[in-house]
Amino acid sequence: DLAPLRRALLSVSDKSGLIDLGRALAERGVELLSTGGSARSLREAGLEVRDVADVTGFPEMMDGRVKTLHPAVHGGLLALRDNAGHVAAMEEHNIAPIDLLVVNLYPFEETVAKGADYDTCIENIDIGGPAMIRAAAKNHGAVTTIVDVEDYNALLTELDSNEGQTTLAFRQRMAQIAYARTGAYDAAVSTWMASAIGERAPRRRVTAGTLAQTLRYGENPHQSAAFYTDGGTRPGVATAWQLQGKELSYNNINDTDAAFGLVSEFGGGSPACAIIKHANPCGVARGDSMKDAYTRAFDCDRTSAFGGIIALNRPLDAETAEEITQIFTEVVIAPGADEAAKEIFAAKKNLRLLLTEGLADPAEAALTYRQVSGGLLVQDKDNGVITEADLKVVTKRAPSQQEIADMLFAWKVAKHVKSNAIVYVKDGATVGVGAGQMSRVDSTRIAARKAEDMAEVLGLPESPTKGSVVASDAFFPFPDGLLTAAQAGATAVIQPGGSMRDDEVIAAADEAGLAMVFTSQRHFRH
Ligand code: 5GP
Repeated sequence: DLAPLRRALLSVSDKSGLIDLGRALAERGVELLSTGGSARSLREAGLEVRDVADVTGFPEMMDGRVKTLHPAVHGGLLALRDNAGHVAAMEEHNIAPIDLLVVNLYPFEETVAKGADYDTCIENIDIGGPAMIRAAAKNHGAVTTIVDVEDYNALLTELDSNEGQTTLAFRQRMAQIAYARTGAYDAAVSTWMASAIGERAPRRRVTAGTLAQTLRYGENPHQSAAFYTDGGTRPGVATAWQLQGKELSYNNINDTDAAFGLVSEFGGGSPACAIIKHANPCGVARGDSMKDAYTRAFDCDRTSAFGGIIALNRPLDAETAEEITQIFTEVVIAPGADEAAKEIFAAKKNLRLLLTEGLADPAEAALTYRQVSGGLLVQDKDNGVITEADLKVVTKRAPSQQEIADMLFAWKVAKHVKSNAIVYVKDGATVGVGAGQMSRVDSTRIAARKAEDMAEVLGLPESPTKGSVVASDAFFPFPDGLLTAAQAGATAVIQPGGSMRDDEVIAAADEAGLAMVFTSQRHFRH
């Protein structure tokens, strides 16, 4: 399964490593073919190169749109070397075999990331490159395809280990990588076009990703993992820059994303802070200052906040930084940090600080993907956002303005809590979060019990759920969950409504003297 290497075609946009590779191939007796800019680079380095235009008998034309799209190139890449018919066709049409293809594509993803205009993006869609890559990779029985500068060394090592030839295993490995590249490339083009023209239907979309980081491991140490980014420029964990601390882990990335998404719900106005553990918030609060917001979030569940991920909706300042460093925290993400805050963090080598350019837009239209065995579930991101005007009062008692403010706060948090989600809020701070239970009553109970525990830790005379409001991410199917919340001292309830037994639930709320509003929007998060 060894294949000889007599002729190589090099056509690269990213010219790094090109000359060294060209020289190394020439030294091994390989004939070099190349396209315009690549040929020029090689020639300037004193290497002997044959122009592809010379092979095809056609000049490169139409601003490079047509360079290598010709049977003399594609025949040389695709011909089966051991097929008599193919060999005869090569002879008849004077086509020479090409044994190695080295291509990296027009920088489409980078062009989009730079915010280039529509026509510039279109011009950066490589046509001939992917065509050659796909042809060469298909014919990996004889041809080696290299699409990544990182693989140049592996190629030379392969040649040196096999007397100037390549093994089938190597060509297969490179072919697999080649198709990953063309697949991701077209996915990037389609994803960009979808946003340029406003196409939103999930079934007309693809996933696109560029490897951003090979992770030390996945959710657990025995799982390998990597982080792919989609080339988007929106503020978030993928585009944030890391000022200090170890590399982010798989769980860090997931939790940081959850934390930043949640805190972004509050906009950049008054200070807000979210502390996340295992993708669920264990404390979220507004405050008069950022330090105040952090402290109030921390006081929701001091035990769970240890080793948490903190997101701020405004830049990190010194007094908040000082407060955060009192306990162990994995990651802090914020839209900026002042110099004094950075200095305080610098003393904590393991603390990761990520800075973003602003906040995420919670109402932004986007897609989310989840893998299931044998497939991928694609849906619109939950970008549901409500205002006071969307609330429908269903009880005899109408909520007070304070209750309305807290209910809207609780609703934003509940959207970011795993279902069944129950969130108690008082004065713009969570005081109890019940997450991920299989029964809504259990979530209601757990959240209330955790609040009682915190009352003890904080030395409060009564549970902070007394006089709180409660949000439920989906309707209460029976009165029991609602009554549990009332027993814990909640005075107002926000929930979607829509249960068959809404009447029973409303009657129970009236009897308990609760105010209740329906949002008509559910926020399951599984
Ligand atoms: P060069 O800098 O050598 O002139 O061009 C290299 C780039 O051209 C590579 O990124 C390669 O993928 C691309 N390329 C090669 N052949 C064609 C073609 O026929 N059409 C287009 N649009 N691009 C090509």
